Amino acid sequence: MPHLTDFRFSAQSLQDYVECQRRFLLRYIQKLDWPAEQSSPYLVFEQYRHKGELFHRCVDQYFHNIDPALIEQQIHDNDLHTWWQHFMEFIREQPFLHTVSEILFQSSLGDHLLIAKFDVLAITADHKVIIFDWKTTAGDHKPARRILAEKMQTLIYPYILCQAGLSVNEKQLASPANVTLEYWFPQYPHEPELFKYSSVQMQQDETQLRGLMEEIESKTIAAFPKTEDEKRCRFCVYRSYCGRGDVAGNIFTDDQETTPDLDLEDLDLDFENIEEIAY
Ligand code: SF4
Repeated sequence: MPHLTDFRFSAQSLQDYVECQRRFLLRYIQKLDWPAEQSSPYLVFEQYRHKGELFHRCVDQYFHNIDPALIEQQIHDNDLHTWWQHFMEFIREQPFLHTVSEILFQSSLGDHLLIAKFDVLAITADHKVIIFDWKTTAGDHKPARRILAEKMQTLIYPYILCQAGLSVNEKQLASPANVTLEYWFPQYPHEPELFKYSSVQMQQDETQLRGLMEEIESKTIAAFPKTEDEKRCRFCVYRSYCGRGDVAGNIFTDDQETTPDLDLEDLDLDFENIEEIAY
């Protein structure tokens, strides 16, 4: 039975768990580093991933008050330049009072820790709180709302913000009814996906999260099965280890439900000083 008291759950680790319990075991408990292409065409996928990282960096610089003209001078890629222009057109229209970028939240749920890093947290003049997540995609279509709605990120981000609380002048801003999660797509700037939060939703999310964490903690190592949905294996680096094929899935032809999310940060693996999970 894993001892998870010091483990920081994140949207990525719980997404891995709901997609494939074996992947969670290999990645977060056994910490198995298995070399494999995550997706094909490999170079195209990695280029998109790199462009996505650069886009996030440019936007972060913008929110640290670096002159947009200077940021633009660093951009030498046509796609990235287009995304940047879309972002500038978008952000000029936004009536934010306060913004903070790349902000890390941690909250506890029972004995468990939950973390999330927001691309941008914005507060409007009427005290609405918007969590922005910039989503760049490697395929040739925007993720469907139905797929985004089912992501652990959509559940965890607003939950953790409301749980952690956010107040200004002793006024509680992050009450669920004030919070919206907005996925904004630089490749599809006029098609954002907004998810408004509520106290009913927060209660449901807390029950689901608590259940998942307790379920994980109650398992033996032998009780993390491979997914029955073998489509999931096409974009998983462990597919040869699991005997689920040698060839990576194609980002242009496979279905959206199984393609990897370029933008989620793997906080459990990257977070400094993270404690080992002890058995
Ligand atoms: S290859 Fe398939 S079964 Fe193995 S960890 Fe990945 S998703 Fe799970």
